[in-house]
Amino acid sequence: MPTPYLGNPQETIKILQKYNFNFQKRFGQNFLIDTHVLSKIVDYADITKDDFVIEIGPGIGTLTQYLAEAAKKVVAIEIDKSLIPILQDDTLKEFANVKIINQDILKVDLNELINRENDGKPVKIVANLPYYITTPIIMSLFENNVPIANITIMVQKEVADRMKGLPGTKDYGALSLAVQYYAKPYIVANVPPNCFMPRPKIGSAVINLERYEKPIVSVNDEKMFFKLIKASFAQRRKTLYNGLRNSNELDFSQEKIAEAIKELGKGASVRGETLSIEEFAKLTNLLTKRYI
Ligand code: SAM
Repeated sequence: MPTPYLGNPQETIKILQKYNFNFQKRFGQNFLIDTHVLSKIVDYADITKDDFVIEIGPGIGTLTQYLAEAAKKVVAIEIDKSLIPILQDDTLKEFANVKIINQDILKVDLNELINRENDGKPVKIVANLPYYITTPIIMSLFENNVPIANITIMVQKEVADRMKGLPGTKDYGALSLAVQYYAKPYIVANVPPNCFMPRPKIGSAVINLERYEKPIVSVNDEKMFFKLIKASFAQRRKTLYNGLRNSNELDFSQEKIAEAIKELGKGASVRGETLSIEEFAKLTNLLTKRYI
């Protein structure tokens, strides 16, 4: 066991006091202090001694210690430079398989990093991130085709519910479809505020996204697929027909939209929120085939 072994409030407080650390609100710093949650994250990320793991936002290195014990190699990317000495000289000093990078994750070229450090082979991503950058990060990982086997990430409980939302439910929306196009979501644990220091105001959840080898549905035009989804959910209570007709980003005639909805086997009053991912794919292909 490394010393200090983190993951309980006493050790976390000791480290924070030793370095006179000030929590930075703008970096969303809520450190995990619950060993049960830490073990669950590592278990569900399915990390073995063959795995290369990228941790986004290691904080004082609590989760990183667990990851380093389970994985072949861990690269931990942390934006806050005041945490780097804590990680390097203290909490992670005993781990030869951990590399710490002081950078903003939004500015790191992960494809290049994975090519350099792991011969371009798929990696596992683990993170307990500030909530305001969670969705942009997940979407950019998928959209930029970063080679990923899975992502195991702490998110706001409400965001986890939306990621795995199903048609016709209040949680179903553009985020559900974007995530489920690329990956299979599974909620690993609901995590109450008392598992963190300091305590956040809202509940969190750990979600595991198991990436599909290729997207779950096949579309002629991926950009159009996402535009249609966005337009369909822009005004939730409107019909699909009105959503598509009113969108500034789409340029289909009324007749074409009505015809495609009919060909989809739906009535004129159908709402976008009732369509499955397969139906959105079919709608995309119906609307775009006439351009080919
Ligand atoms: N992983 C630690 C844990 O579980 O205790 C810390 C989690 S804390 C919620 C989020 C961490 O992400 C902080 O250490 C914060 O400084 C870091 N962070 C915030 N924005 C970041 C960014 N853009 N790039 C890299 N790290 C970031």
